[in-house]
Amino acid sequence: MGAESHNQSRYGVQERAIEVDSSIPAKSLRWSASSVTTFVQCPLKLWWGKVAGWQEGPSTATAAGTAVHSALEYLFERDPLERTPPVAEAALAVAIDEARDELAAAAVPIDDVRERAEAALAVYWNLEDPVAVDVLPDGLEREISLELAGVTFIGYADRVARSDTGAIVSDYKTGVAKPRYLGPYYRQQYLYAAALHEEDIDVTEIELLFLGEARRIRRPVYPAALERATATLRATADEAALMADKGQWTARQSGLCGWCSFETVCPLRRSRAPIPGSAVSNERLAVIPGMVHRASAPKADEVSETAVPAVVGDLDPADEAPADGGLFG
Ligand code: SF4
Repeated sequence: MGAESHNQSRYGVQERAIEVDSSIPAKSLRWSASSVTTFVQCPLKLWWGKVAGWQEGPSTATAAGTAVHSALEYLFERDPLERTPPVAEAALAVAIDEARDELAAAAVPIDDVRERAEAALAVYWNLEDPVAVDVLPDGLEREISLELAGVTFIGYADRVARSDTGAIVSDYKTGVAKPRYLGPYYRQQYLYAAALHEEDIDVTEIELLFLGEARRIRRPVYPAALERATATLRATADEAALMADKGQWTARQSGLCGWCSFETVCPLRRSRAPIPGSAVSNERLAVIPGMVHRASAPKADEVSETAVPAVVGDLDPADEAPADGGLFG
């Protein structure tokens, strides 16, 4: 097992360069905002998901988030006066039912998902009046795919609507607004804003709607914020390219390891773990409920947590993490 270096990371936690199976080809990645966040959290985790092709199954939190996003998307597809709680609740029920098989495969109790999703949707009505939201054409689950700072950037913005000053790009979060996660959330929205600017949409505000606690956060869009977000995107892509060239990806320990599906085969967390990507490692991953190994490693355009609406990809750490925190940042 290749372990080249032991360091304290910028977060003050242990990290180590881990050699991965050399038969898995390095590839040119396209980046989503969540991929950037995952890489910052732990590059090896990103490698497992986006290079080696392992797709984690849903958790209660991510499944609930997916269902709520689906219900709100349906709600905003309706004419304003049809945007009522019964309409959203019916859409939510359909979304949860459609996830039944996937949840069963991942051993996630559907009743827990329903309870969490219904609670989040109930909170939504305290945040805004959907009748008053003026969604732009093609402003729901707005697909983004373009070159940003020389990096191929992809994603889906939850909602782009008119505002008093231009346009506002909004993101639903089914968790609560833990301060330690706000930075990545802002970065995501600023990346979307930068991308939409390239498409001549004058985004002047970003917005986070937290359905775990009825909290709305708005921030103005300004050049320094866009530059910071795109610089991080560029730096992340460069750092990943270096790791791909070396065949060694940094495993970065944090409080989130306990919520990482790859912990049981992670050399940083298990002293006798096999080489990531080896047959033995893959056999161990394959028996984890809900884990799927795509037949071949993902193509470049699959490197996005939000590229597949079925999992919405609002894989936000705050939703995944235990309520009492204890996480990095
Ligand atoms: S267990 Fe921790 S160090 Fe290992 S891959 Fe997951 S997040 Fe990274």
